[in-house]
Amino acid sequence: MGTGNLLSRPVRGITDILSSLIDWLFPPQCLICGKIPDAAPFLCESCYRACSVFDDCPDSGAHHEDKPANRVCVMFTFDEYIQKLVHQLKYRDMPYIGTFLGQRVGKYYQHHDIANCDALVPIPLNAVRKRERTYNQSSYIARGIASVWGIPVEERLLKRCRNTRTQTRLNRDERRENIRDAFVLRNKKQIPERVCLIDDVFTTGATTMEAARTLKRSGVRMVHILTLATPRKNQ
Ligand SMILES: [Zn+2]
Repeated sequence: MGTGNLLSRPVRGITDILSSLIDWLFPPQCLICGKIPDAAPFLCESCYRACSVFDDCPDSGAHHEDKPANRVCVMFTFDEYIQKLVHQLKYRDMPYIGTFLGQRVGKYYQHHDIANCDALVPIPLNAVRKRERTYNQSSYIARGIASVWGIPVEERLLKRCRNTRTQTRLNRDERRENIRDAFVLRNKKQIPERVCLIDDVFTTGATTMEAARTLKRSGVRMVHILTLATPRKNQ
C-alpha cells in the first residue's frame, strides 16, 4: 500500500461525512416528481420509465428535395417528463442530465444503422446563446452517446457563422430561410466520412437539415441526424 493511500484516507473520510451530512440536510430529489431519485442522482425509476419512447423518423427529408440527411431518428416524445429534463439541462446548469440522457439514447440505438458513423457532431449554439448558457446542451448529449458507441465527438468541426433569429415563432419555410448558410466547417482538411449530427429537440428539422447540407457540401459522404425528442406526433 503506498503512502498516498494512507494520507488520502482521512481526507476521503471527511469528504464522505460532509456529503452524507449535506444529503441528510438536503435529501436529493427526483427533478420531475420530487421522490427519492433511484435511477440517477436527479431522477427516480418510475419517471425514468415514464419518458415515452418515440423512436421514429419524423421527417427524413421529405420536405427537402436535396435530401441532406441519410437517416433521421428521434428517441423520445417531448412529453412533460422530457420537457422538464431538457429545461433543467438548458437553463439550470445541469449538463450531466445531457450525458445521462445521451447514454440512454446511445444504448437504445447501439445496434441500429445510425450508429455506423465515424464521429458525432453536436449542433452548435449561436454565439449569443452560448454566452448566456456557458455550455452547449447537445454536446453533453453527444458525449453520453459517444461513451456507448466508442466514437469521438467533434465539437469544433461545425461552426455557426452568423447569429440567427429565434426559430420559435417561424413557420417551416421561414425557419429554413432564417437558418440558410448559418453553418461553416472549421477544419476542411480532416473531414470524417460518416457523421451523426446530434441535437436536443427536433421541431421542423430546419436547423439540423441545414447543418447536414453544410457537411454534405463539404464532402461528408453520409450524414445521419439523431435527436433526443420531438414535440410532433407519429405520422
Ligand atoms: Zn420521479
